[in-house]
Amino acid sequence: MTDTKKKIVLSGMRPTGPLHLGNYVGALRNWIRLQDLYRCYYCIVGWHALSSEYANSQAIKNNCFEVAVDWLSAGLDPARCVMFMQSEVKEHAELHLLLSMVTPLPWLERVPTFKEQQQELADKDLNTYGFLGYPVLQAADIVLYRADCVPVGEDQAAHVELTREIVRRFNRFFGPLFPEPQTLLTEVPRLSGTDGRKMSKSYGNAIYLKDGPDVIRGKILPMVTDTRRMRRNDSGEPDDCPVFTLHKAFVPKDKQDEVARGCRTAGIGCRDCKGVVIEYLIQTLQPIWEKRARFERNPELIWNILEEGNAAARLSAGATMADVRAALGF
Ligand code: SF4
Repeated sequence: MTDTKKKIVLSGMRPTGPLHLGNYVGALRNWIRLQDLYRCYYCIVGWHALSSEYANSQAIKNNCFEVAVDWLSAGLDPARCVMFMQSEVKEHAELHLLLSMVTPLPWLERVPTFKEQQQELADKDLNTYGFLGYPVLQAADIVLYRADCVPVGEDQAAHVELTREIVRRFNRFFGPLFPEPQTLLTEVPRLSGTDGRKMSKSYGNAIYLKDGPDVIRGKILPMVTDTRRMRRNDSGEPDDCPVFTLHKAFVPKDKQDEVARGCRTAGIGCRDCKGVVIEYLIQTLQPIWEKRARFERNPELIWNILEEGNAAARLSAGATMADVRAALGF
């Protein structure tokens, strides 16, 4: 066992439905790699989903199941990581409450994603205490397992920094209870959705891990491309093309270079180019679909895996909270 093996990593995903390719290349693919390097806690954060989906809470449990199936099918292995449901480990709520006592309001109001998400999800009333406190719950998720590192893309690094600030303040009042978590900076490739905007479930432009070959062809073939290629003879610029973001994530480098040359010289048409990415995407997803079919036939197994993960998480969380309660004098 190496030194890094002893370090603890925590990360979570909101259960808002099946995972798309953006979730896969932006997080899950990296998590699969990390489970051999660290002691990893991967958490399905149902209470975070509730902060924006409170009017539709009944869907969250089933979405947790969907996420777990995607995780397992893609390669997370319960023998090599702890995968669990936040809402089944009540210590997350208790620590959230305690951290909230020392977190100054302006720290939360200045979080850029607070305003951004309120605008992005304008159809929902996110002017709530729960939504404002989202980063405090996130801090509780992380420090409850005394995580050393949190794998995030650059755009999420501010959240980990806020956790570090909260930890420093909490430790100042009650003693050195928590380590300050470090960011494990991950390169998160920007993946475009079918309409050219960032791939997102809320934009309705996503390609899902569970989409079969026909659905994938049906989504990629009509995708918008570099607008300079109006006709077959026009040359294009792959770096300005939403389709090429998929190449960068799924096509081997030498093939990518060949396609890019073909685009810039009008040597290949967009339909051929899309055919290449469809082929590699199907190759990548085929083993995931096969595993998914096996898991879907056995839902009991998924719930058992989650329950075992919940129990392991409770053990660790319970030990942390015993120290916290003692430090606070409760
Ligand atoms: S050839 Fe490929 S990269 Fe170039 S514009 Fe068409 S789809 Fe995009």
